[in-house]
Amino acid sequence: MKPLPIVAGIDLGTTNSAIAVVIDGTLTVIPVAGQPTMPSAVGLDPAGKLIIGQAAKNQQISSPENTILSIKRHMGTAHTETLGERSYSPEEISALILGELKRAAEAHLGQPVTQAVITVPAFFNEAQRKATQTAGALAGLEVLRILNEPTAAALAYGAGDPDGDREGETMLVYDLGGGTFDVSLVCVEKGIVEVKASHGDTHLGGDDFDDALVELAAGRFAAQPGAPALPAAARRRLKGVMEQAKIRLSSDPFTNVQEDYLTEKHHLITEVARTTYEEIILTFLTKTIDCVRRALSDGGVTARQIDRIMLVGGATRTPFVHELLRASLGKVPRHEINPDLVVAMGAAIQGSALAGAPAPAILIDITAHTYSTAVLADWQLISAPLIPRGTPLPVRRAEVYYTNVDNQERVEISVHQGEAPTPEQNTLLGEFALENLTPQPSNSPIVVQFQLDLNGLLTVTGIEKLTGRSETLTIDTHGQHRLNLDAARANLAALFADDPDFDDDHGDEEEYEDDGDAADEDEDASKPSGTPPGPTGKATPAPPGLLASAKTLRQRAEALTAGGLSEKDASDIASNLEAIASAIQSRSWTTLQALTETLSDILFYLED
Ligand code: AMP
Repeated sequence: MKPLPIVAGIDLGTTNSAIAVVIDGTLTVIPVAGQPTMPSAVGLDPAGKLIIGQAAKNQQISSPENTILSIKRHMGTAHTETLGERSYSPEEISALILGELKRAAEAHLGQPVTQAVITVPAFFNEAQRKATQTAGALAGLEVLRILNEPTAAALAYGAGDPDGDREGETMLVYDLGGGTFDVSLVCVEKGIVEVKASHGDTHLGGDDFDDALVELAAGRFAAQPGAPALPAAARRRLKGVMEQAKIRLSSDPFTNVQEDYLTEKHHLITEVARTTYEEIILTFLTKTIDCVRRALSDGGVTARQIDRIMLVGGATRTPFVHELLRASLGKVPRHEINPDLVVAMGAAIQGSALAGAPAPAILIDITAHTYSTAVLADWQLISAPLIPRGTPLPVRRAEVYYTNVDNQERVEISVHQGEAPTPEQNTLLGEFALENLTPQPSNSPIVVQFQLDLNGLLTVTGIEKLTGRSETLTIDTHGQHRLNLDAARANLAALFADDPDFDDDHGDEEEYEDDGDAADEDEDASKPSGTPPGPTGKATPAPPGLLASAKTLRQRAEALTAGGLSEKDASDIASNLEAIASAIQSRSWTTLQALTETLSDILFYLED
């Protein structure tokens, strides 16, 4: 039998491009110079040699006149770019990028690649599509189809799968890259995946976030005694530095930036908090949400009618993007496929379908459960998820929490698995304490970091931010079921110890295993997980009504204090409230019971 032809899928992006193929039912993203994506950059090096991709991007600062970036913005226009002595059309520059991708694929596969599906934004007009097709032809590629990027993303998420159940689905594809944003409403009907509405802003993306961070850093630099205003060259130098800081803020609640000798005598040493970063990008993100609303209204769809939200583009790794989408649309966005590669993958799936191959399965490693810690919010212990179900692995996420009382000496850090909103309903995987904290007023920051690797090893670290002192606990999340089963077997064996018919080894492990497919279902954070308890058992739940009664007492106490009390009564109440908060934090229910009774007595006496 003749092998099926290879039809490559190419995401020809404004900032980065990628190429993927399906061979024998397996989808592969082809590395270019060792990386899954290649900067869409073309240039001439100092010796006048053509350079494409990372090498061209690297010389952007030192040699901007010999470097061409973001050519996609000019597709379909008469714009020209000069390289050396000659000028070139956008099609010609794009052909150089496509040619480099084609060469990388041929070297990787050891065979010619002559056919391709190339993606374009849904808003591209006929001239822009035609220019893309021409660029492909100039690169020696027969372009079998020009595919809309959101359609490609939907295909990667299974939209075109003839055996799938996506029929009648409405999907929202939110694509935030380095320099452009667009959002599309994609519908699957009668096996056809179609873009119903699309909106966007061709000058909005992660680059704007970098610029805003450069402004912040420049302001802080100039505020140093004797420091000059930052010259343009130093600002350019800061751009890459702040982009890296921005990327770190997707995992960390704070990041340090240090750039020595930014000017002749002055350095930049500063810390940026994720909350500060979120404040400065809020206006940009609000614009994207406005575009989402317009796309919904153009498509005649309400937020409730959206079945899935899918994320595309590197800047969607920003946690605040997820939060805002969830807050505005009431749905958790899907991000399990690498947002830089999802479009190229979808294009490759379309390519393999055109070549007559069945749809490939995309293998992705994601968490089947949510991993959270327990925090005190409004006097209730609630689950604070650090790694939500469906997150691609490996992953590292850190969040900041705050001490409850002045001079707090220790914090308990517990680790839970499951989707329920309160820790008691989830499976406790482990807990440890960060002790001998430096005496500080309440609200001093404690950073909690979860790191989950491909083998299911969860490393949890608690860090006192002030000193950097830390404690770590490592948990084998895959071991949970086994350990639990072993314990159960031992239990049963003890029960039947005198029964000669009892077979110690008759349990079928498979029966107890989760199907691990939870991420495929619609996210519902309020549903208890039903997972069997871990090796250390569940967290001891508070006696019924105790937390609620503590909360009511606090409200009564606050109302009384606000109404005016003697200094002594106010101080008695305040110290009782602090002790209550601390008892809840450490889950000392007996102490809490006693404290609430004392407070109740004080209030009864004072209210009288
Ligand atoms: P794209 O155009 O899709 O390649 O996206 C590139 C943009 O994504 C750039 O602005 C990057 O700085 C940004 N980006 C990449 N990784 C991250 C990350 N982990 N968090 C936030 N932004 C990121």
